[in-house]
Amino acid sequence: MRNHHFVPAAQVPHTVRAAHWFIFRDTRLLVRVDSGSATVPFIVKPVALGLATVRSQFVGYLDGVPCFSAEIDPDTPPPPDMQFQGLRTLYPLLDEAIFWVAARAVQIVDWDRTHQFCGQCGTPTTTKVDEHVKICPNCALTNYPRLAPAIIVAVERGDRLLLASNARFPRGFYSVLAGFVEAGESLEQTVAREIMEEVGISVSDIRYFGSQPWPFPHSLMIAFQAQYAGGDLVLQKSEIRDADWFSADKLPQLPPPLSIARQLIDDFVRRHSG
Ligand SMILES: [Zn+2]
Repeated sequence: MRNHHFVPAAQVPHTVRAAHWFIFRDTRLLVRVDSGSATVPFIVKPVALGLATVRSQFVGYLDGVPCFSAEIDPDTPPPPDMQFQGLRTLYPLLDEAIFWVAARAVQIVDWDRTHQFCGQCGTPTTTKVDEHVKICPNCALTNYPRLAPAIIVAVERGDRLLLASNARFPRGFYSVLAGFVEAGESLEQTVAREIMEEVGISVSDIRYFGSQPWPFPHSLMIAFQAQYAGGDLVLQKSEIRDADWFSADKLPQLPPPLSIARQLIDDFVRRHSG
């Protein structure tokens, strides 16, 4: 988001001359792809493209320009010269600021779709005008867009880095370890538990590195660096296909630059090469 300024907002502005529209069919975004770059519609309303929306939401302002999200029926074909694409595919094609608004938008759309009824009493919910909150008019239960915090951690042992090939990854592809925070845990406890569960070692010196929204579907990745403290690598076979210690000059196939996983690995490489 360098050189861009995004202000989140929920209240639809009074007049809209043109806006960035993030229109989703399921989790796929409507874009126009032209010579290796993708753009989202810059229009007043989706009807300009002949599209009827199921629901739409206001997301905020990117550099002062209104941004809307919308959901369309899963059977809707894309307008001429446009297509629906998954966000991971679009990362290298979209302007980075637009990509991160899309990452918010897909989660707002998902929250709106999945909170039409109260989870406690089943009454149809209402949406607050100036905030992304669903309120039950019967029992007052409130629901915000869902976020699932997850830790991701680079464990170092001297000049080597722990990388694992998850059972769900394509074969030969390695990354740092990650896992969801459980109810009642601190982030440091999650780091220690995940590493012990997945590869059987203990860690120390757990330090915060950074964080990144990860809208697949609604994670918040909180990244740490840690030092090996003891134990032998014993893999949890259902989750981890392989794990090993790698030096900076002999790394396996790594995650794409988009991810904070890659930023953790790149940081290790910067400190341990040359
Ligand atoms: Zn209720």
